[in-house]
Amino acid sequence: MQQTPAQQITILGSTGSIGTSTLDVVARHPEKFKVVALTANSQVELLFKQCRQFRPRYAVLLDEASAAQLRSLVREAGLGTEVLTGVTALEQVAALPEVDAVMAAIVGAAGLRPTLAAAHAGKKILLANKETLVMAGNVFMDAVRASGSALLPIDSEHNAIFQALPRGYDGNLAANGVRRILLTASGGPFRNTPLSELMSVTPEQACAHPNWVMGRKISVDSASMMNKGLEVIEAHWLFNAGADDIQVVVHPQSVIHSLVEYVDGSVLAQLGNPDMRTPIAYGLAYPERIDSGVAALDLFKVATMNFVAPDFARFPCLALAYQALRAAGTAPAVLNAANEVAVAAFLDKQISFLSIPRVIETVLDALPVSVVGCLDDVLVADAEARCTAQRQIQQLAK
Ligand code: NAD
Ligand code: MG
Repeated sequence: MQQTPAQQITILGSTGSIGTSTLDVVARHPEKFKVVALTANSQVELLFKQCRQFRPRYAVLLDEASAAQLRSLVREAGLGTEVLTGVTALEQVAALPEVDAVMAAIVGAAGLRPTLAAAHAGKKILLANKETLVMAGNVFMDAVRASGSALLPIDSEHNAIFQALPRGYDGNLAANGVRRILLTASGGPFRNTPLSELMSVTPEQACAHPNWVMGRKISVDSASMMNKGLEVIEAHWLFNAGADDIQVVVHPQSVIHSLVEYVDGSVLAQLGNPDMRTPIAYGLAYPERIDSGVAALDLFKVATMNFVAPDFARFPCLALAYQALRAAGTAPAVLNAANEVAVAAFLDKQISFLSIPRVIETVLDALPVSVVGCLDDVLVADAEARCTAQRQIQQLAK
């Protein structure tokens, strides 16, 4: 019998939480996956270690000085990996002719251009970078459709929904008998924190997620529930669902990763331990199932599952995201940019946790919503929102 050739993969953001989990799955199946390119922002040591283990043809570091360091390490070790630098190099390795699949796992708006390059090149895209869809949903989905890219959601909730929808789902909920999508949320570390204490929570407390180990930005987003807000917008684009078709359900155990409710009363869910290697393995091997290294779910240990409605007063970021989705056009890009700036300022201890939604709301109110016709419209809105957010943060710091 003829062996299927190994899938050639680029991993954008290979040193991050999703990137390292992806390499963990890849390492379990060397006959199925071959790494062509690895990329990171500036983490020389970890990227060098990954180059030694996976022998990619290309390694990209955004930061030039870090790239020079990696280049000499790679040369000394005789690895034969070509080290590139800059945003254009990220786009290049996402679109290489020999690449079959691209894991889009850069955090934030920085992931947009390379992920879009993968879409234009018709690659199979494993989408972890939800910000791409939040910022430029119509531009990205148009590129996916035009090139015939296969788009596999890696965000655990969207991966669960993808699994619970009919195979080959065509973007029409009603025609497929779907009543609504139930998007689960853990509620993060501050679900039960007295409101009076939220003013003074630290970045360390915000990053200590009860169920998932993740990068710092998404950890803060989970604590404010902006992450769920971004995921509502992500679900809108992935599944062609309106704001009213998506119900957020707080489920603190994070065992059910999301559900699809059908008109006949059936509700299909995907369950598993909270470990991103499950959706990553699903995306990598789709439509096959492969070992991901994740332990079997022990329902007796889980024992109880709870569900509550989201508290919009405690988590104003979630309300702001619904508002931006309904406003459409550039509003989600503005929301995303203001959030990135506010989260960075919180992590940098310039503003309090409760100032994050305040900054975002001020920016959303200050900037008029315009139509998104092309990528430039998104980039202009993103830049304006960042400037406005910075000004607002400086005022708060006074
Ligand atoms: P992370 O911070 O752990 O890793 C980010 C990666 O992106 C790193 O490799 C970093 O070097 C790279 N990077 C950062 N800034 C960059 C820049 N300006 N240019 C190029 N590369 C840059 O983040 P993460 O937790 O792995 O999340 C990655 C993405 O996946 C995010 O969009 C997040 O929302 C999404 N996601 C993550 C999880 C999770 O469990 N971690 C779950 C669902 C979705
Ligand atoms: Mg998620």
